[in-house]
Amino acid sequence: MKVLKNELFDEFKCLAGECPETCCYGWRIIVDDETKKRILEKDGIWGKCLRFSLQGPDKNYFNYDSGSCIFHGINGLCNVQKKLGTEYMPEICRKYPREIRNYGSFATKHLDLSCVHVSQMLLARQQRPALIECDEECERDRHGSNDDPQFEEIVLTSQKEIIQMLNVKPQLLFDPATMDRILHALLAYCQYAQDTVLAHKDMKLTKEDGMPSYFYELCKSDDMPDAGRSYFPLPIMALNRLINTQFDLQDSRPFSMINRTIEWYHHKFDLKTEIEGQKVWTRMVKEFLREDPSRMEAILRYLQYDVQQCYAEIYENYSFVHFAVSAIMHVNMFLFLMVNYNRKKKLTQDSMAKLLSAYERAACHNLGLNKDMYAIVCDYLPIQTLELG
Ligand code: SF4
Repeated sequence: MKVLKNELFDEFKCLAGECPETCCYGWRIIVDDETKKRILEKDGIWGKCLRFSLQGPDKNYFNYDSGSCIFHGINGLCNVQKKLGTEYMPEICRKYPREIRNYGSFATKHLDLSCVHVSQMLLARQQRPALIECDEECERDRHGSNDDPQFEEIVLTSQKEIIQMLNVKPQLLFDPATMDRILHALLAYCQYAQDTVLAHKDMKLTKEDGMPSYFYELCKSDDMPDAGRSYFPLPIMALNRLINTQFDLQDSRPFSMINRTIEWYHHKFDLKTEIEGQKVWTRMVKEFLREDPSRMEAILRYLQYDVQQCYAEIYENYSFVHFAVSAIMHVNMFLFLMVNYNRKKKLTQDSMAKLLSAYERAACHNLGLNKDMYAIVCDYLPIQTLELG
């Protein structure tokens, strides 16, 4: 089968007891039917302990209150794996952070950035990781039912073109306008593609119309669509609304990196008027990016990774605009966290990776929260139809 695989996929090795974070905190863990059956048949004290830990209305979750999983040992290792073997671990724990999707005629293989080591790998390597096309088995059941080779080609070709658009000249890494133009181009292309899909028009979205590069070129000229509005950085009021969702409650550990960063933001901005706050924010972003080009590179890598990991989902959900708006939100939130962290602590590559994975854990794995945040970003963009796909 044709598989689009991120280069990092085969390189990943869990840090286990050496991990500076853990994926055993903060999430409800669904226990799949096969593992649950094994657990129900297990005898002895371990069987009782596992059954006692099954919680939720259908007794199919571990760690239902999203605190720290009771099987997470002090040495950082999973006690279920250590004492009983991987077959008693829920499937999601066995696979994490690997994410495989089978679309029928092609599949994708990625690693989730909520794992701190994946974020570290993304930022530490010399080159941005590529998406490799290979011929491999896909062990996952089919996801969705679309069967449209022409649309598949459009989605996968435009994905490649968007990735190309992210290769910017080194001297442009110092300027927020670089990312602003890219995001304008991305949203403009996705709106065009969405309208075409909704109108059931001929789906020649990339070849004859020369898109999305055409839009990027347009964005470099004086005719940039929606030029009067900043997509990067988003206004500080938009970011303030985003963190005032349940976002700041996602990690309840005292002194968690993300919560301290938000606290530092509040100290700096809470007493300012909206106009003053906006001036300070715009200046901080400019200075922050001017100081070190690796910061814009980190944001570009995150955006590229998002395109590699999530864009192909459009093949099933047809939600071009949803993809673009979410991408705009993600890069702005990553920027927000880095700028505010940098005010108080040294922003190393490792701290960038930790902020990135903490953001992904908080915002990308909670559907309700994600919808609320999405709706807020739509308020600041020229989105006609509120599309929550
Ligand atoms: S966060 Fe990643 S590296 Fe750390 S324990 Fe979990 S899977 Fe392993």
